[in-house]
Amino acid sequence: MPLAGKITRALAKQGQAPHTAIVGCADSRAALEAIFDAMPGDLFVLRNVGNSFTHAEGSVMGSLEFCTGTLQTQLILILGHTGCAAVRGATRAFLNSSENKVSKAGKALDSLLAGLSSVARGAALELGEDATEAEIANLAVQMNVFHTMDFLLTNSAFISDKVQKGEVDIQGGIYNLESGRVTFLGRSPNQSKIVNTF
Ligand SMILES: [Zn+2]
Repeated sequence: MPLAGKITRALAKQGQAPHTAIVGCADSRAALEAIFDAMPGDLFVLRNVGNSFTHAEGSVMGSLEFCTGTLQTQLILILGHTGCAAVRGATRAFLNSSENKVSKAGKALDSLLAGLSSVARGAALELGEDATEAEIANLAVQMNVFHTMDFLLTNSAFISDKVQKGEVDIQGGIYNLESGRVTFLGRSPNQSKIVNTF
């Protein structure tokens, strides 16, 4: 029997114990299991457009609480990627808006992009007036990873408590679509400040 078949049978019998939970973008080019050469049982994968908690905090956050609680996974990785259309779209919407706010249109996607616009705004402010849309979007990809980490720490007392006790670590990274490499960003610079407020 091939190795993958043996693994899936063993997992079905004995249950899962994934070593890492990953929140990644739904972009088809950022296929998380393939990026990390993962086998069944290795990764607990959550994906949406823009690897964020915007308007999906309940399902994604609840899934992470299940993974770190019931399955006792100790590492959460928030993984953004270069050329992210969601971040680029939010950046474009932010720059094109006369009031620098994204309109509240009816589509759920518009709401998602509106949520990401705060990240685009932060990147635009940091880079100044001369920055191009591409430069702002590139920085926004990185800031979005930290934003997602901070959102998780701020809104899940369960996970924040585990981080404070050293039972769970939250790390960030960016997958480069062209090179196929992951650059790790470490913990959020705001982590200790947020965790200590609980
Ligand atoms: Zn993306």
